[in-house]
Amino acid sequence: MHPLLHPQPSNETHPVSDFNPESTSAGLSAFEQEVRRIAAAPERFAHPRRPFTARGSFVERCTGCRLPTQSCICTYRTPVDAGVEFWVLMHIEEVNKPTNTARLIGDTLPSTRVFAWQRTQPPQALLEALQDPRYYPLIIFPDDQADYQHRVTSWPQVEAKLEGRIPVFLLLDGTWRQARKMFRQSAYLQDLPVLPVHSERTTRYQLRKPASEQHLCTAEVGIALLEMAAQTEAAQVLEQYFTVFNEGYGAARRQASADLNQAQAWLLAYQAQQAQA
Ligand SMILES: [Zn+2]
Repeated sequence: MHPLLHPQPSNETHPVSDFNPESTSAGLSAFEQEVRRIAAAPERFAHPRRPFTARGSFVERCTGCRLPTQSCICTYRTPVDAGVEFWVLMHIEEVNKPTNTARLIGDTLPSTRVFAWQRTQPPQALLEALQDPRYYPLIIFPDDQADYQHRVTSWPQVEAKLEGRIPVFLLLDGTWRQARKMFRQSAYLQDLPVLPVHSERTTRYQLRKPASEQHLCTAEVGIALLEMAAQTEAAQVLEQYFTVFNEGYGAARRQASADLNQAQAWLLAYQAQQAQA
């Protein structure tokens, strides 16, 4: 039995004003541990980052998933294997936000890596990873501007060129404005092929107001990419986990829905089945 399949939900909570990002690293995904390491080292970054003080900053939060205690999703974290990897280039202003959904990808696919983005300091670890011959990195971005059309590719074209390399989906994680800035201002991204996500889905994300229904949150982009790459099982697990997160967090603000109970039951059944295999 994989120990991560049965994470112990933490009952320990404290107000976010006392939140020590490094206090409880045991049992967290490698992704989440790295996000907390970034958040705990403000001297490495040019901008002083504000602590999380938006709506809900005084509620009791789980130290594992950072959600309000009654919406804790730690029990539902379900790691799966996939034949693709995600690397997340996270805008520095995202690291303290409990509404960030890239961490759902990190929880579900343990190989997921995260790098902090800031304009003046390229992330050294990412520069090295981009040179690693085992990987075929693709930057996930819309194909709607004329000046980089020569870089735009499609999944069938990628598959034909892999030659045994692992496809990597590099996600620009921030607001739409920030993502555009990251795409334009990062010289080390200028040679990467651009893979757009053309998905039929409209966003279900409730925790931030999207500019349009076609603007998917980061976890939803992840689900669409896993579907595109025919990683069906990983796509299903991430989809259910996103539902638990989205509906559960939303339930703190309104009535819990049937969707939530269904997704919770799905993940627990899946974990039980994996434990028997
Ligand atoms: Zn939790």
